[in-house]
Amino acid sequence: MHHYLDAEELTKALSPDIPVLLNRPHAARRAARYFVDQFPGKALYAVKANPSPALLQLLWEEGVTHFDVASIDEVRIVRATLPDATLCYMNPVKQLASVREAYREHGVRIFSLDSLEELEKIELGTELAEDLTLCVRIRVASEFAEISLASKFGVDVDESAELLQRARQRADCLGICFHVGSQAMTPLAYVHALERVRTAIVGASVTVDIVNVGGGFPSIYPDLEPVSLNHYFTAIDRTFEDLPISYSAELWCEPGRALSAEYSSLVVKVERRRGNELFINDGAYGTLFDAAHIGWRFPVRQVGADAENGTTTGFSFYGPTCDDMDFMAGPFVLPDDIRAGDYIEIGMIGAYGSAMRTKFNGYGSSEEHDVTDEPMASLYVGDNLDRSDRDNVVSFPSA
Ligand SMILES: *Cc1c(COP(=O)(O)O)cnc(C)c1O
Repeated sequence: MHHYLDAEELTKALSPDIPVLLNRPHAARRAARYFVDQFPGKALYAVKANPSPALLQLLWEEGVTHFDVASIDEVRIVRATLPDATLCYMNPVKQLASVREAYREHGVRIFSLDSLEELEKIELGTELAEDLTLCVRIRVASEFAEISLASKFGVDVDESAELLQRARQRADCLGICFHVGSQAMTPLAYVHALERVRTAIVGASVTVDIVNVGGGFPSIYPDLEPVSLNHYFTAIDRTFEDLPISYSAELWCEPGRALSAEYSSLVVKVERRRGNELFINDGAYGTLFDAAHIGWRFPVRQVGADAENGTTTGFSFYGPTCDDMDFMAGPFVLPDDIRAGDYIEIGMIGAYGSAMRTKFNGYGSSEEHDVTDEPMASLYVGDNLDRSDRDNVVSFPSA
């Protein structure tokens, strides 16, 4: 693989006709180091955000040892890439054959669940193993997150006592986990969720060994600029320390987006301009699923254009397939005079970008290259490392 400085150097050299992913290993390393050093507990990586073996390897090298996997294919990918990693099978509804293969062939000992049926499945699949860590997923609100994860999984706290007690009997190690929703825009999301954990622990009178606050840690996008992550960590730490758990209880988190968003950007080519609509060569069935289906506004720039001068317009995008739904409303702000043949770089696409790509309509091919310039934005450098001048900070009195 050839290395380029940035999108401009790459498009000059290659004039690519297919979308190109630009990977920034240094950015992924920086994010991993930040979580490993600063999170007041253990930071897992949620593989579904981006299962690229190259990324898995980088995270491992920076000290991420535990990986949240949700399917048997993710188990196989991580195990093949990282033979010594600890795999945590955190999908609360698994297939029996997958539990069996994960336990027997890949050394998986950590499973999540949110029902008695799933507990029985895990017992069956592991043949009543006594070396299990079982994490009971509770339902928490998604009110502070951009993407809800409140409907599908999680046992209601009011109904969680029996499951916690039964899991406690089966487990060598008992955890409670939740997910506040993706791109949680305030640390309060975790504070509220941890209060649900308190209620669950008190209600079931069980000893809990692990509290896993899940994913949801934000990245930075146009109009979605969070306070810095240290505010999240402080709020989580204080609330965790106050839970009715033993001193040896562990705190875990499992970010996907926050560890992978800055890893990649995407270079696309404009094939046609029609008014303020640009027809580009990637879209809703490709890397831009979130831009199409949930209106996510990724940062954009025209490759090689002078960003400081010239006037700009808000554009929407059509992807390459013959489908009206292959549409991304934006608005994506780009130079007025952009036209067919120009290239656009779309930033912060490392999370839920390439992972979502399909082959629909014969598209979906792309190239990948490493680049050395900085991502379009970063939570891990400069001012963004300590920002409290946004309206969603939670202040805690010092302990
Ligand atoms: C998707 C998912 C994550 C990662 O969420 P992000 O919002 O990307 O941090 C973590 N844990 C579980 C169980 C998930 O399903």
